[in-house]
Amino acid sequence: MSKILISQARVFDGSGAAPFEADVLVEGNRIRTVSRSRLNAEGAQLIDGRNKFLMPGMTEGHAHLSFEAVTATEDLITPPPEEHTLLTARVAKSLLDAGFTSAWGASEAKLRLGVAVRNEVDAGRLPGPRIRAGSLEISVTGGMGDESKLHNPRKGPSIIVDGPEEMRKAVRLCCREGCDNIKLDVSGDPFYPNTPAHTTPMAYEEILMAVETAHAYGRKVNAHTRSIAGTQACLKAGVDMLFHCEYSDEKTLDLFEEAKDRVFVVPTVSLFHTIVKNEAAAIGLTAEVGGYMGIPALLEASVQTHTALRKRGIRHLIGGDYGFAWSKNGTNARDLQFFVDYYGYTPAEALRCATYNGGLAMSRGEDRLGLIKDGYLADLLLIDGDPLSDLSILLKPERMPLIMKDGQLYKNQGSAR
Ligand SMILES: [Zn+2]
Repeated sequence: MSKILISQARVFDGSGAAPFEADVLVEGNRIRTVSRSRLNAEGAQLIDGRNKFLMPGMTEGHAHLSFEAVTATEDLITPPPEEHTLLTARVAKSLLDAGFTSAWGASEAKLRLGVAVRNEVDAGRLPGPRIRAGSLEISVTGGMGDESKLHNPRKGPSIIVDGPEEMRKAVRLCCREGCDNIKLDVSGDPFYPNTPAHTTPMAYEEILMAVETAHAYGRKVNAHTRSIAGTQACLKAGVDMLFHCEYSDEKTLDLFEEAKDRVFVVPTVSLFHTIVKNEAAAIGLTAEVGGYMGIPALLEASVQTHTALRKRGIRHLIGGDYGFAWSKNGTNARDLQFFVDYYGYTPAEALRCATYNGGLAMSRGEDRLGLIKDGYLADLLLIDGDPLSDLSILLKPERMPLIMKDGQLYKNQGSAR
């Protein structure tokens, strides 16, 4: 079994505790020992961790691996499957290059894009993070993603269902085709004027059917939910992963708290931040246009809700909705600073969301992830500098000389001796 010893690094173990100097011995794909005293390096490849910060690999909590600089729905529909598969493989690699050793798939533009790339990565034939493959979006007639008109039926990137039986069939289809996570569009969205963010086109019975069906296959359910009614329905129905969740009230927060050992939440604040800060102006989505769309109010609601969820100990993951032209995949670690600025996390707590919480979501059975701890899977980043004093270091690949996934050195620049 291969052995790698990373010596005398400053270890941030993912729990949020203060870093400490330690040796970390990796055997095969697992962390064998974390020791505050020097370990015997015999038979091991030695990596000099002195003056470096060692942390667990990060998890992107809402990955769109088939989105690359998207500006409109056309970018999801138009690419032929062959090109789109290659694009998805490129994006997967860009996440690993950025220190994301895990990606929780939100949804993909075609049903098997995430599945095919996940399978290639798992087989060791393509570089990429650990992937839980997202399904297509499942929506309802007139819901987010239904772009048909009576006079102009149009095949959008979503599966449109009405009623529990159609939902059951759609979820079974996604399970049969290998998706790990089934995506429901429960609420409306500011990009769909017909169904604003506070509306809830999907019915409780449909959500419940999706959850029961997906769980019967051992899969998880993701929900796009911005509305109060949508979020409450998801929490009651047993949805596993909730995205966005801007609007809330006291009852919603209480429901979250009751479910806090079961659910994960990804605020996906980047999309709104970038619009409000005029970073999407090049494609015409100026801050002014964002104002007409109600984005500042949604951002304010996001701050209120997710600050309250942080205080109640709800498990947040970072990331989400990277893959647009103004919010590209590979820059996902921007979320760390957003978590500090918008939701009041400390840098160490934000890193915990990216590592420990992400690992909890991604863990399967005995294969535990997200901590630098004996027995955990060896997904590690060695950083040149201190992210706890400057989180933007994690956006600079040149400051990340080592990326290890599953005990394998994906990247190792200049730290061997
Ligand atoms: Zn999304």
